[in-house]
Amino acid sequence: MLKHNEYATFVANQIAMKFNTKTIHGGQENIDPGYGSVMPPIYQTSTYAQSTPGGHKGFEYSRSGNPTRSALEKSLASLENGDFGLAYGSGLAAIDAVLKLFKPGDEIIATKDLYGGSYRLFTAIFENLGIRFRFVEMGEENNIKQYITDNTKMIWVETPTNPMMNIIDIAAVSKIAKTNKLLLAVDNTFATPYLQLPLDLGADIVMHSATKYLGGHSDVVVGGLVVKDEKLAEKLYFIQKASGAICGPQDSFLVLRGIKTLHLRMQRHCENGEAVAKFLKAHPKVGKVYWPGFRDHPNHHIAKKQMTGFGGMISFSTKEDTLESATKVVENLKVFTLAESLGGVESLAGHPASMTHASIPKEEREKTGVVDSLIRLSVGIEDEEDLIGDLEQALG
Ligand SMILES: *Cc1c(COP(=O)(O)O)cnc(C)c1O
Repeated sequence: MLKHNEYATFVANQIAMKFNTKTIHGGQENIDPGYGSVMPPIYQTSTYAQSTPGGHKGFEYSRSGNPTRSALEKSLASLENGDFGLAYGSGLAAIDAVLKLFKPGDEIIATKDLYGGSYRLFTAIFENLGIRFRFVEMGEENNIKQYITDNTKMIWVETPTNPMMNIIDIAAVSKIAKTNKLLLAVDNTFATPYLQLPLDLGADIVMHSATKYLGGHSDVVVGGLVVKDEKLAEKLYFIQKASGAICGPQDSFLVLRGIKTLHLRMQRHCENGEAVAKFLKAHPKVGKVYWPGFRDHPNHHIAKKQMTGFGGMISFSTKEDTLESATKVVENLKVFTLAESLGGVESLAGHPASMTHASIPKEEREKTGVVDSLIRLSVGIEDEEDLIGDLEQALG
């Protein structure tokens, strides 16, 4: 089957390593048999010479496989404790590939406060193609059961959720998925495999926007999938090859380079995240602060159980609770940059209602807590004092 198929360039080798070692070496054995370069070469080529028709060295055309992309795919699989990795031109292209597993009439149950782009892809593209979505509050996982029908095929989970930082119990949802023979996919963009390993908790598919923490330097847009099941991997590989939303060699290289420091960056993101969250919580001009590390966060016990840290993503509202007050804060920030995206070394601030979540109708948005005064922070790896000082002056 796949593992012995010379086209299956995305199969991870299974050498036992701990996580920090995997970020550097995972899936990277024999990366350049030609010259032994330590970093994977950027194979900027569309095609590969054949000695005789069909006589190639494992790659024939870069849509179906490219050695640099393959190095990234193996790294992703290794980090997520999976067997097969696939890299795409964006996180949404990765989600798009997963949705192409289904046909009209199929139903998918998805987390309610979903990343705005995922919600848009689901409702504005795939609903038109006949796939039905149910958006469900999954904080209490048993809530999911009432939405399962004979047509349900997959549960799509995002945890921590964006931007409300709700935590969903992956192991508990996985039990429901298994009982009902449903696939479970987890968008692991916010947590990264450093903090959370969905496949180990029973998920079938892990999805990443590598644009964020995995790349880590805000310089590429890349997506990824990791699975364990060979049949599922084969289907997804077919879709990747047939639809073509692949990650290019240059971007693959950049994400691979980013991944080498993932563990160091995540450690600092977590430390700075904690400091900033605590600062905000004590500030008189701040309303609510959403960060799963707080003991009074409604899902703190789940976060503690399934994550090894609480990350650097924080949302908060202003005490005044108006659009104007939030706008003023984000405009006054100097170290934090007002920008979409997250997970880079630099700290970013976003205004979900008008930026990342603008495509979700206001009533829908506010039901999940994305009010006009909500600000989302991606706390970077700068000095803690500078980040807190910046927030202090912007709030004042
Ligand atoms: C950014 C993001 C995506 C989409 O990824 P792109 O790389 O921007 O296409 C999906 N899910 C989450 C949680 C994200 O933050």
